[in-house]
Amino acid sequence: MLCPYCASNQTSVLESRDSEDGAVTRRRRECAKCGKRFTTYERVEVVDLKVVKKDGRLEQFDRKKIKAGIWKACEKRDCQEEEVEAIVDEIEMRLLNRKSTQVSSTDIGKLILTRLKKLDQVAYLRFASVFLEFENVEEFKKIIKEEIN
Ligand SMILES: [Zn+2]
Repeated sequence: MLCPYCASNQTSVLESRDSEDGAVTRRRRECAKCGKRFTTYERVEVVDLKVVKKDGRLEQFDRKKIKAGIWKACEKRDCQEEEVEAIVDEIEMRLLNRKSTQVSSTDIGKLILTRLKKLDQVAYLRFASVFLEFENVEEFKKIIKEEIN
């Protein structure tokens, strides 16, 4: 945090207070260089990412659901919890870094597929069969063919 008077970064927090709803934190700071005091307000940005389902419904993004879907595909396979967690983290970061606050469930499925392919072939094919069943059969056949050849 830079001092607004002298731009020094040596400032310290004298007092912190959360707003009633906890959304804003007010901090009283003092600059160690020029001695002036100033107030900052920190607001937690609410993650508002909606998933557009195939039938057009909107659903709040839920990383637990993504993780559950991947885990299901990984059943009885040698996938580690950390590996699955890392995939979910990566997908979530990627989605949150986009400008849009909406993502289609199809796009999420494709993101999962790309990563599962690198992790475990069987889990990948399982996920593909579940995911693409609702997409189109031809695409699935194409993928299976690519795997075999
Ligand atoms: Zn200062």
